[in-house]
Amino acid sequence: MLIPALLLLALAALAVLHWTRRAKWARAQSTARTEIETLKEAHRGALTQLQTQQEALFDSMVEGLVVLDERGRILLANRAFMDLFGLTADVRSRTLLEALRLHELAELVDLLGTQKQVLGRQVRLPHPAERWLGVNGAALLNDLGRRHGTVLVFHDLTRLKQLENTRKDFVANVSHELRTPLSLIQGCVETLLDGAKDNPEVAAKFLRTIERNAGRLRLLIEDLLVISELESGRVKLDLQPVPLHSVVQKVFDDFKARAEAGKVRLSNEAPGLAVRADPGRLEQVLGNLIDNAIKYGRADGQVTVGACPAEGGQVEISVRDDGPGLPPESLERLFERFYRVDKARSREPGGTGLGLSIVKHIVQSHGGRVWATSQLGHGATFCFTLPLDVDAGSKNP
Ligand code: ADP
Repeated sequence: MLIPALLLLALAALAVLHWTRRAKWARAQSTARTEIETLKEAHRGALTQLQTQQEALFDSMVEGLVVLDERGRILLANRAFMDLFGLTADVRSRTLLEALRLHELAELVDLLGTQKQVLGRQVRLPHPAERWLGVNGAALLNDLGRRHGTVLVFHDLTRLKQLENTRKDFVANVSHELRTPLSLIQGCVETLLDGAKDNPEVAAKFLRTIERNAGRLRLLIEDLLVISELESGRVKLDLQPVPLHSVVQKVFDDFKARAEAGKVRLSNEAPGLAVRADPGRLEQVLGNLIDNAIKYGRADGQVTVGACPAEGGQVEISVRDDGPGLPPESLERLFERFYRVDKARSREPGGTGLGLSIVKHIVQSHGGRVWATSQLGHGATFCFTLPLDVDAGSKNP
């Protein structure tokens, strides 16, 4: 009787032990599962954070960046890339050719199948406006040296190209402007040497042509020096209060003889305002505009300089003539270097084509702006703004 009871007791004890172990094991398993889940969650969080940081980093780049997978499909395209190509829809999973329709780029990706790097390629985008892009590409290789993707970086070279073209145009224009008076001088000298020097009347005529053209060369060189000084950005303005009425009068005095020769009346309507400007540079601006007004205005006409306070603490100064005026399509281009409305008419009275460009540079370096208004046949008005002198504000009416 005792043995079965003991056996029963042992079995019960074993069952309790087994049950306790199972419960413990289950608890341990559940804890481990929770920990694994927590770790997975943390890992997912870290991955998302890394991805967000990476995207923010790529999107903050000025250069366009695109990453392709081993089949040439877009994995990642940053904001600059989307902007450069004017893309708005999601381009991921598409090939570059599908996304951009640019064969040169597709060829570049093919080239990266055989080369590890392709550097300094230039691509021209004809639409909507002409743009130039510099492209650098590299194959992404794994540990075994097998290609598993491609990365392409794009730089916008349009501004650089434009500057390069402007420089080329400028050099071409300067050479052209210098060549004309020089060949005239050379022609005269040759004719004089060939015998014209022996005839005093003829010789005097050729010498006057030489003198006139040498003068043109001097003016051109002087204007070129001023332009290059202004464009160098090294010009220091000697800003001070400048009373408008008296500075206009001073410039009028310089042009008195010229105006009298053309029977042009000079009228100073500038009020007792003072502007904050470099007096020498302001005289240069007024001089160029008054010179043009006399040169292109009407014989027996009138040139008027006026001024009035404008918005934002500025003064608007105007130089008006009653000459033939300007065609509307020329108004935007007048301030470009070497732009002339009537080429023959401008060169004849000694124009260099740089006067208004100098005016624009000086006015802008004072923080002002310049523009022209005109009605063909009814004269032209050139206006510019300069800061009102605040210190002299109490004296300004
Ligand atoms: P330029 O040395 O030839 O005078 P500017 O830059 O001063 O060069 O002027 C550019 C062109 O603008 C001139 O060639 C002329 O055709 C035109 N222009 C300038 N001022 C006037 C004006 N007051 N009336 C008519 N045309 C003008």
